[in-house]
Amino acid sequence: MKSVAVFCGSRPGSSDVYIEGAKAVGKELAKRKITLVYGAASVGVMGAVADSVLENGGHAIGVMPEFLKKKEIVHPRLSELIIVDTMHERKAKMADLADGFIALPGGPGTLEEFFEIYTWAQLGLHQKPCGLLNINQYYDPLITLYKHMLKEKFLDEKFRDMALVDGEIGGLLDQFDSYEPPNVKTYLTEDRT
Ligand code: AMP
Repeated sequence: MKSVAVFCGSRPGSSDVYIEGAKAVGKELAKRKITLVYGAASVGVMGAVADSVLENGGHAIGVMPEFLKKKEIVHPRLSELIIVDTMHERKAKMADLADGFIALPGGPGTLEEFFEIYTWAQLGLHQKPCGLLNINQYYDPLITLYKHMLKEKFLDEKFRDMALVDGEIGGLLDQFDSYEPPNVKTYLTEDRT
C-alpha cells in the first residue's frame, strides 16, 4: 500500500483524544512510508494528521477546491498541493491517488466522502479497502446503524464487511494489507428478498 486517503473533520472535536488519534495516524503512515492523500486543510483533525505526517518525515498530498482555499485554510507545508475546480474533482482526484480510504472522526463532509467511496466499492467500481478508524468509539452509533440495516435487510453482510473497522491505525492498516475484495458480480442478481 503506497498511499491512503484520509477523510476527517475540519474541526478538532470535543476532546484532545481526536487530535492525539490523528497524530498517531500521521506517525504510522510516515513509519510505513505510506503517502497521505487528504483535503489539504491546516485546521481540525485534518491539519493534525498532515502535521504529524510531515513532522515524522512522511509525504502529504493535499487536494483542495479553489473556492474553499481561504475557508479551509490551506496547509502551508504540504509535500504537494493540488488545486481543483470542484468538490467532485477533489474526490475523484483523491480516489485516483489513493490505494485505500480511511475515515477518522469528522462531520457530515467526512461521512459524505467516506460513503461515496465505500458505495463505489460495493458496486465493484474499485477494489480498494475502506475503513473506519473508531477513535474514542466515535463510530459506534454508525456501527449500530449498520446492524439495523442488516436486520431490516437493506444491507448484505458481505457489503457491511467491506467497511473495515479498527480502534488502532496499525490494526486498520494491517487489515488493509490482507483485504480481499468480495466478488460483487452477483450484486444485482443475488437473492435480495
Ligand atoms: P467535516 O467532516 O464536515 O468537517 O468536513 C470534512 C471535509 O469534508 C472538509 O474538507 C470539507 O471540505 C469536506 N466536505 C464538507 N461538505 C462536503 C460535501 N457536501 N461533500 C463533499 N465534501 C464535503
